[in-house]
Amino acid sequence: MIMIDGSAGEGGGQILRTALALAVVTGKPFRMHSIRAGRRTPGLGNQHLAAVRAAATISQAGLEGAGLGAGELTFRPGPVMPGQYHFSTGTAGSAMLVLQAVLPPLLLAAEPSRLELEGGTHNPWAPPFDFLRDAYAPLLSRAGVHLHLTLKRHGFFPAGGGQALADIQPGPVMKPLTVLWRGTIRRIGVTGLVGRLPRRIAVEETTVAARELAGYGVDTDIREVDSVGPGNAIMVKIECEEITEVFTAFGQRGVPARQVGAQVAGEVRQYLDSGVPVGPYLADQLLLPLALAGRGEFLTGEPSTHTRSNIAVITRFLHVIFDVRSDGPGRYRIACRPQ
Ligand code: AMP
Repeated sequence: MIMIDGSAGEGGGQILRTALALAVVTGKPFRMHSIRAGRRTPGLGNQHLAAVRAAATISQAGLEGAGLGAGELTFRPGPVMPGQYHFSTGTAGSAMLVLQAVLPPLLLAAEPSRLELEGGTHNPWAPPFDFLRDAYAPLLSRAGVHLHLTLKRHGFFPAGGGQALADIQPGPVMKPLTVLWRGTIRRIGVTGLVGRLPRRIAVEETTVAARELAGYGVDTDIREVDSVGPGNAIMVKIECEEITEVFTAFGQRGVPARQVGAQVAGEVRQYLDSGVPVGPYLADQLLLPLALAGRGEFLTGEPSTHTRSNIAVITRFLHVIFDVRSDGPGRYRIACRPQ
């Protein structure tokens, strides 16, 4: 039984999702205490409980302590069963984070899977649908496994109600990824997204972001989408020869649209100026594909606490070592190899 302290490092939901995913991959049971102790609302929220139940469903796992608000949990997985599943957070909780908990074992399974996901698709503090489709999934394909994502309806906080399909096509082996170059920039697309909110919010955000990124020659686009409740996001997709990155900022009541536009432009500029191919969110999420392949490396910026905590959890389950080395000012090379 692997014992995990959920308050270590970042102390958030990622520690739990990585443990769930790798418990199913390896068949190793774990017990976690102090779940999400680093968060303002510690313990299992709806979205985390949905992830626990999803991981338990695909592996017929034995569960102890999996209740709303629980700070402790024991998870005993059986063998992974690919197939058709429907997972819902029941709230605006991120359905994309539920996917994060079950994707690794399904990518390594003997048969394909199809997941119907319901809940939030564009949530703050979670990978937005577009990030997973445009930045993450292409890298999985390069590793020889495939995630095809289809968005049926956008889901925003607080109403949720989004719907997405994830078609998962495992490969015979997971190949090591090497992501050390960005290559030339082919296109930067700025998309202002609104559901049940005035179009002018997205127009103002994209105008500000496009102005701040004017030196790069960006394309802009406004999308008014169908959603159960109101929501707004601005997404910047940076398509380079070797990689696509996606940065997102979310509109909030009381925060001026121009500030939201400037925020995402600031993140994009920092990424572009750094010269590294892998941005901060992609960095913590790429660790798992590297570890599952047993090898690989990428160049990124200063490792986040999510990245450091994820490395700590991954190495409890898999016999791999991660080297995190400075590669010049603000540049870090993260390499994975067998122990
Ligand atoms: P946690 O805070 O522990 O629940 O983990 C949040 C996860 O969501 C991490 O894997 C983050 O990299 C990811 N994430 C948060 N914000 C974004 C974003 N804007 N784009 C992509 N991924 C994100």
